[in-house]
Amino acid sequence: MSDSTASATATMPRHLLSIADLDADLIRTLLDTATQMQDVQRREVKKIPTLRGRTVINLFFEDSTRTRSSFEIAGKWMSADTINITGKGSSTSKGESLRDTVMTIDAMGVDALVMRHSASGAAHQVAGWVDAHVINAGDGTHEHPTQALLDAYTMEQRIGGLAGKHVVIVGDLTHSRVFRSNVLSLRMLGADVTVVAPVTLMPSGIRAWSETDGFALSNDLDPILTGDRGVDALMMLRVQKERMSGGYFPTAREYTVGYGLTRPRLQRLVADHPDVVICHPGPMNRGLEISADAADAAQSLILDQVAAGVAVRMSVLYHLLAGAEGGAA
Ligand code: ASP
Repeated sequence: MSDSTASATATMPRHLLSIADLDADLIRTLLDTATQMQDVQRREVKKIPTLRGRTVINLFFEDSTRTRSSFEIAGKWMSADTINITGKGSSTSKGESLRDTVMTIDAMGVDALVMRHSASGAAHQVAGWVDAHVINAGDGTHEHPTQALLDAYTMEQRIGGLAGKHVVIVGDLTHSRVFRSNVLSLRMLGADVTVVAPVTLMPSGIRAWSETDGFALSNDLDPILTGDRGVDALMMLRVQKERMSGGYFPTAREYTVGYGLTRPRLQRLVADHPDVVICHPGPMNRGLEISADAADAAQSLILDQVAAGVAVRMSVLYHLLAGAEGGAA
C-alpha cells in the first residue's frame, strides 16, 4: 500500500452513508486502492492481514446476493471476522426495535456495521447510535454508495477517466438508490450524465436536483441514444416491482418498447458507438429492462461490476477501518 493511499485515510469520513460524504479526491483514493485490492483478488491465495482482529457485521434487513456476499468476501480476504445477520434471523422478527438490535450488536465491540434496510435514512440513524463504523449497503430508495463506487471503477477500467464522458442512466429512477448515488459520484468525477425514465418513474423534485447538480433529464430514450452527444456508457436500472404499489406503466411490454435495452436498440447503439459499455447493478429482469442479448453482449460489463464489487468494498473497509497504520501485504 503506497504512502499516498495511507495518508489519505486520515481524511476519510467515519462512516460511508452517502456519496455526499466524499469528494472527488476521496473517490479517487478509494478507486486507486481498489485497483491494488483487485491484484489481491487475482492472486491464487487471496488473503492479506490488513483487517486481522477486526469484526465486520453484515446486517441485512432486505434481500441481497451481490452486496452481502461481496462485503463478506472482502472482509474475509482482509482477514477480518465477518458475520452475517439477516432481518428474518434476528430478534427484530420478535419485535425488537432497530435501535435495540444495533446497540446490542455494537455492545459486543464490533468494528463495522454494513447495513441494508428498506427505510431511507436508516443507516444515518444507526450511525448516530453506535460506536462502530457504519457502511450504508442500501437504504430504501435513498442511496447505495458502494454500488456507485464499483460502477465508476468498472467503467473507468474499460473506458478510462470519466471526465467529459457521457453516461446515460435509464429506468426506474423513482425507486433507485443506485441512480441517486451514481449521479452524485459521476458528477464529482466530471462525467456528463443524462437520466431517462417515463414521467411516472421520475421522482418528484428531480428537476430542481438536476439543475443544482448539472445533469440532463429526458422521457425519450431513442433520441438520447442516437443524439450528437454520443453515449460512452449506458446504465440500465432494474424495474423495482417490490417497491411499486400501483401501476407505473401500462404493461411490461410497453415499458420494454419505450425504455428496455432490446436487441434492435442494442444493435443500433453498437453500430453508432462500438465502444459503448453497458452496466446494470443487478439483479436483472431479463426481457423487461434489458434483453438477454444486451446482458450477454461483448459491451456488457455486468459481471465486471460484480468482480469490482469485492475490490471496491475491500478498499472501503480498508480506508474506514485500517487507518493510516494499515496496509496490504
Ligand atoms: N442491487 C441494487 C440495490 O440493492 C439494485 C437493485 O436492487 O435493483 O439497490
